[in-house]
Amino acid sequence: MNKDEILQMLTVKDATALYAEADRVRREYVGDAVHLRGLIEFSNACGRDCLYCGIRRSNRSVQRYRMSVDEIFACAKEAKILGFKSLVLQSGESAQYTLDEMCSLLRRIKQEQGLAITLSIGEKTRAEYEALKQAGADRYLLRFETSSEKLFCELKPDSLQQKRMQCLAWLREVGFQVGSGIMVGLPGQTISMIADDILLMQELDLDMVGFGPFIADPTTPLGDAGSASLDLTLRTLAVIRIVMKNVHIPATTAMGTIDPEGRQKALKAGANVLMPNVTPTQYREMYQLYPGKPGLKQAPSDTFDTLVRLVQSIGRTVADDAGHSLKILK
Ligand code: SF4
Repeated sequence: MNKDEILQMLTVKDATALYAEADRVRREYVGDAVHLRGLIEFSNACGRDCLYCGIRRSNRSVQRYRMSVDEIFACAKEAKILGFKSLVLQSGESAQYTLDEMCSLLRRIKQEQGLAITLSIGEKTRAEYEALKQAGADRYLLRFETSSEKLFCELKPDSLQQKRMQCLAWLREVGFQVGSGIMVGLPGQTISMIADDILLMQELDLDMVGFGPFIADPTTPLGDAGSASLDLTLRTLAVIRIVMKNVHIPATTAMGTIDPEGRQKALKAGANVLMPNVTPTQYREMYQLYPGKPGLKQAPSDTFDTLVRLVQSIGRTVADDAGHSLKILK
């Protein structure tokens, strides 16, 4: 699809038919099963200062934490017992863990629990990505956030877009299933930029597309900016599904934050993944990239059950496999 066609879909007056088409494409290319990936937010330490982020380096109101490697492993073990086939290990970008620590953790989870592992731990060197892949990580999420270089520089003042794109290329080279994506409704973002973002996702031939709405956090420099609407978020999701077809797309917690029915609506507009939070409850309040995150006090078992019921309530099933890339499975 070209940019004009994408723009036409993003701006259509009544999006009902757009959502229905995205749902049809989702059914045809990825099926009815919804993949549950257990999310472990294992450290909120971050050396970067992205303007929109609640755990940015200069936010002094955040109490920082670092789970020990044994705590992370215990969490993975609990996730396996609950029924998860797949984990997402996420943290801020920092040097809190050595490469050896991370690699031995990955090997242990892989060998003893047999779970598929997605990492979301930011920019690394090619050699580090290679070591993490060899230690057992299967997938890597690294959002490019926006394809606009100007907007990227404004919102991520201590990052380089070129480096981010280089990292995405390295991840592919070393054999990861690669996920990337954007934030929708960022201050200064236009519909034209979102169309360019979708074209870039297509060019990167992603296995997973992760994205969520911008939610203004009062403790950040963008605290007074308006948050994204669910309407724009769902339109973007639907268009990504129609354009990208056989990729995994999560209905993110942020969508459930801006609308209590946000995740159900997202699953009906093209999404096929949910990421229940299995981080120990004592850490969850400290990992708030945006305010108002639901389920902060919910035990992992309750979170799992809530999401299974959510999936069943819309007539879908929970997947019983690890949910690897549909591109490599072909
Ligand atoms: S968005 Fe990521 S890299 Fe940026 S400040 Fe937040 S945790 Fe750190």
